[in-house]
Amino acid sequence: MHSLGLDIQTLMQPEGKNKKWRNGKKKILDGSLSDEAMEENTPHDQEFPFVSLEEIALATDNFSETCVIGQGGFGKVYKGMLGGQEVAVKRLSRDSQQGTKEFSNEVILIAKLQHRNLVRLLGCCGERDEKLLIYEYLPNKSLDATLFDDSKKMLLDWATWFSIIKGVARGLLYLHEDSRFTIIHRDLKAGNVLLDADMKPKIADFGMARIFNDNQQNANTQRVVGTYGYMAPEYAMEGVFSTKSDVYSFGVLLLEVVTGIRRNCNSRTVGFPSLTVYSWNMWKEEKTEKLPDSCIMDTCSSGEVLLCVHVALLCVQENPDDRPLMSSVVFILENGSTTLPAPKRPAYFARQSAEMEQIRNDIETSANSFTLTEVEGR
Ligand code: ATP
Repeated sequence: MHSLGLDIQTLMQPEGKNKKWRNGKKKILDGSLSDEAMEENTPHDQEFPFVSLEEIALATDNFSETCVIGQGGFGKVYKGMLGGQEVAVKRLSRDSQQGTKEFSNEVILIAKLQHRNLVRLLGCCGERDEKLLIYEYLPNKSLDATLFDDSKKMLLDWATWFSIIKGVARGLLYLHEDSRFTIIHRDLKAGNVLLDADMKPKIADFGMARIFNDNQQNANTQRVVGTYGYMAPEYAMEGVFSTKSDVYSFGVLLLEVVTGIRRNCNSRTVGFPSLTVYSWNMWKEEKTEKLPDSCIMDTCSSGEVLLCVHVALLCVQENPDDRPLMSSVVFILENGSTTLPAPKRPAYFARQSAEMEQIRNDIETSANSFTLTEVEGR
């Protein structure tokens, strides 16, 4: 696995040293990096704008609370106007020790990635002790804000939801198979899918992504980052991640979209340890048609909904090798399929719930060895 342990300071030169970057464009990793890092990470054909702190402060009314549009694990997100364009500015919290590496990852990775289902990084700033990322502004916020708000959800028909699902799948396929490296997101969730003005989905937040060599299938990490409930069991329990752990998260997200139920249960899933087990049980008892959320019932195509549930259950199977690749997922969602295998039982967290609870407690008390983010519905 490539390590992206690049010093953020080498990317974010103080304004005084690099006046020519101000208001201008310059290759992102120009100068100041080792040859090896340059060779591996420089997007030779890409230009990247570094924006001054002064300009960003002006754009956000000096980081006024009235401009805050969100709060993530690493800091606040502000809305601003830069060069006549609406932007979202992610400000990494100063006291966040662990955030620097994620920030550095995010800058380098996203600058290289371009796909209509990935959020665009427009620029960044690393002056003084500030670390700021500037993204395109997506007016319809994150998917969970619509998904778990009945009044908003009922405004969308099934065709729109299905197209959101397929867009997320295509974005993930690009990360896994079609971009220069294999990129594992590691924190795919409804809160990390943003919606543009036309409700087209864009995957956000690559701070925890890793770059893989082509021939490397998975990796082990001592630092588990992600969101409980979306994390594949092998990742949550053993820190082993691969593209198949993203596939697992996609399956959970897909079930959330179809059922309107949060991954960690609601009144409909009482008696079941998780949404995945509940859904699998309904499928096994041939009650799949009862799974869709009432908000989408009227407009949905039962064939497409059943297909989505089937694909989702294949994605959340316990054994990573049993889960499909995103290329298969995209193909099936776009073309339908009559020959899908029956899904095996999903990872059964109930069996491990006491163990998981213990692990979570351990994680909370052990500094820096593991990190879990549990973010409840924004
Ligand atoms: P965590 O960092 O814990 O995983 P998160 O991914 O939701 O949480 P952020 O990526 O910092 O955290 O985003 C926080 C919120 O800010 C989002 O849920 C969304 O509402 C808003 N937001 C982030 N980026 C944009 C954007 N480009 N356009 C519009 N709103 C955004």
